[in-house]
Amino acid sequence: MFKLIAFDGDDTLWHNEPLFREAHIRLREMLGHYVAPEKVDERLYQAELANLSIYGYGVTGFALSMIETAIELSEQKITAKDIHELAELGKQMLRAPTRLIDGAAEVVRQFAADPDRKVVLITKGDLIAQQLKIDRSGLESQFDGIEIVSEKDCLTYRNIFGRYGVQANECVMIGNSMKSDILPVLDCGGGAIHIPYEITWIHEMVDQIEIDNDLFCEAPGIADVPRLIADLERSVATGKLEHV
Ligand SMILES: [Mg+2]
Repeated sequence: MFKLIAFDGDDTLWHNEPLFREAHIRLREMLGHYVAPEKVDERLYQAELANLSIYGYGVTGFALSMIETAIELSEQKITAKDIHELAELGKQMLRAPTRLIDGAAEVVRQFAADPDRKVVLITKGDLIAQQLKIDRSGLESQFDGIEIVSEKDCLTYRNIFGRYGVQANECVMIGNSMKSDILPVLDCGGGAIHIPYEITWIHEMVDQIEIDNDLFCEAPGIADVPRLIADLERSVATGKLEHV
């Protein structure tokens, strides 16, 4: 049985990527008289990657990457008014209400009500920005713990599971990113349920891979998670019996 149910936040419990997509589209429009949209996409992604190690994941690094891209692609002709607009776009993203994904609140509450399980939110990004989103989600009180981390790798998960006093195979992580939520958890021996989101940031994309692991499955939507957790627990229990 999974004693610890861990949820990713962005694009798993609430919508996040559409905010980035809207700002990105505005940047393309703004730079429309300087360069083609593909050039904007390419340069913005390069700036985001280069800035990850400095600012980490989140809106701050993204807004500064938009500004750098605008200055560079306009060959420094971008107006102060436009730069101001980009900075404001970043602030608007940080102030945006948290839009929960349909069914997310019900699923979190269902597991939170189970005294035999701990429910933890594991989210990556800027501390203040993530905390604001959690506050606005209305779900904060449902979690036994909230972990805001700068990177989601095997070591991060092992440390978190260790702190909650559970073995990796007693944990299941639910998230939209194969790279951040699924593969590192499977690697350290935990279970994982992937819920694809409508948009994936290019940096979170991984090549199509076949995963052959009894502790993994794919969910069409978050409402399917309770049923799939029951299935995973049943298959592990049966597997164990077969090996006796
Ligand atoms: Mg996510």
